[in-house]
Parts: sequence; C-alpha cells; structure tokens
Amino acid sequence: MSNEFSGLVAIVTGGASGIGAAIADRLQQGGARVAVFDLQPDAAAHADLAIAVDVADDASVRAGVERVASELGRIDIVVNNAGIGAQGTIEANSDEEWHRVFDINVLGMMRVARAALPHLRDSPAAAIVNTASIAATAGLPERALYSASKGAVASLTRAMAADHLREGIRVNAVNPGTADTPWIGRLLASAADPAAERAALEARQPHGRLVSADEVAGAVAYLASPASGSTTGVELAVDGGMQELRLRPA
Ligand code: NAD
Repeated sequence: MSNEFSGLVAIVTGGASGIGAAIADRLQQGGARVAVFDLQPDAAAHADLAIAVDVADDASVRAGVERVASELGRIDIVVNNAGIGAQGTIEANSDEEWHRVFDINVLGMMRVARAALPHLRDSPAAAIVNTASIAATAGLPERALYSASKGAVASLTRAMAADHLREGIRVNAVNPGTADTPWIGRLLASAADPAAERAALEARQPHGRLVSADEVAGAVAYLASPASGSTTGVELAVDGGMQELRLRPA
C-alpha cells in the first residue's frame, strides 16, 4: 500500500456514494484521513469524519470546513465531487431547475473551495480536484443544463488554478465518461428497457464499456498527490478516449 497521503487530511464532497465513495477509499488507502461532506453522511461509514453538508448552503459548508479543521487538525486536499444531473434540451428545464443545478454543481464547488482556502494556504501539499464531466467538452445531446454546469466547472478550475498558483495550491479537474455508479443505476431503473439502455450507454463509450468509479478515483488520487506537483489547471479525461481522441458516440 502506498503512503503518498500520509499525514494529510482530505475533504471529499458527495463521498457517500459512487465516484465520491471510491475517491474517499482511495485517498484513505494512500494514508489520508478523509472527511466526507454529503446529504447522506450515514452512508459514509468508511470515512474518518462524515458530516451532513449541503453544498448549496454556504453556512452548512463553512460549518463543515471548520469542523474538519478542528477535529482533524488541518485541510490539505479538497475533492469537489458532489453533483446532480439534468436531462433534456433547453426547453426541458425551468429557470428554477437551472438555478438549482448551478447552485449545487458550480457554486457548491466554489463554496467548499472558498471556505477551505485559508487552511489550504497552510498546507505544503495543497490540491483541489473538481469532478467535471465529459459533458463539459463532448456536446452530448439532451444534456444542455448539465453540460453547461460542467463546462462552468472546467472554466472555474482553470481560473482558480491561475489565481492560486503562487500560493502553492493546485487546482485540477477530472472529466469522467459515463461511470458505473448508483446515479447511473437510478437512470437505468427508470428506463423502459434497462438492459437495452445500459447497452446503449456502453456503446456510447469509445472503449465499449462504462468507466469504473475506481478508475476515476485513481485519476483524482494522481491529481491530489505530490506526484502531480507541476500539474495545475488541467482537465484529465477518464472516458475511454472520447475527449482526447475526439471520438464521438456512435
Ligand atoms: P451519485 O449520485 O452516486 O453520488 C453523488 C453523491 O453526492 C451522493 O452521495 C449525494 O448524496 C451527494 N450529493 C448530491 N447533492 C449534494 C449536495 N447538495 N450536497 C452534498 N452532497 C450532495 O453520483 P456519481 O455518479 O458518483 O457522481 C459523482 C460526480 O461525478 C457528480 O459530480 C457527477 O456529475 C460526476 N459525474 C458522474 C458521471 C457518471 O456517469 N456517473 C459521469 C461524469 C461525471
């Protein structure tokens, strides 16, 4: 087992399920103590600290960050992973839905980073990793709101990377393709033919299968670790080649 995160403390938002849970496990395997922020903290039994935080609520975020600092003593890594989906063209979602998705997917990441910055400035290994999505770059059909929110995450990542570079805080993003998580499980469960829908999702990935949560966690661990100490402002695709090879869904 590696110990690249030994002595470090990480916050993982949305760490009670799917990609976030895999990230929390991976950081712990590397020796980090991990605090999970989630609406369902009881589902994060593996965490060193699991706190009920709604990233859409700034007071909740600030209280959570201060609790991590006081109970775990420091904050070195922030993984902004909590997010929600939305389907359809621009005609499908109301203004309220647009505000809600941006409030969680974009402002939520900004709020946790903003509250953690004073603690990150004290860390010799400060890193922020944001979970964006292939939707930020691929032009997926019927994902207008979701894609716009993840595009904003990508832009925010680059802007923050520039702003905090000289403070020793690196800011990067991962862009997962469709990943095998409870989120996708819920999507499939609501489909008329779940098996056919799953096959369609797999076929949409250039490598012909869903991405695993552990594969995303591995990319996040790299970007959070000193091994990527000269890397900031990037979007690392974990998508079977869709982004970098300009491959498109069949
Ligand atoms: P998931 O639904 O399995 O887990 C998301 C977690 O976030 C849940 O535990 C949920 O309680 C938590 N959460 C939701 N809203 C929250 C809020 N307001 N405050 C705090 N916690 C909140 O989803 P997942 O598939 O693991 O997705 C995680 C991230 O990965 C999301 O940002 C998503 O957009 C992104 N992503 C997912 C996929 C995919 O195919 N699954 C692909 C690309 C990107």
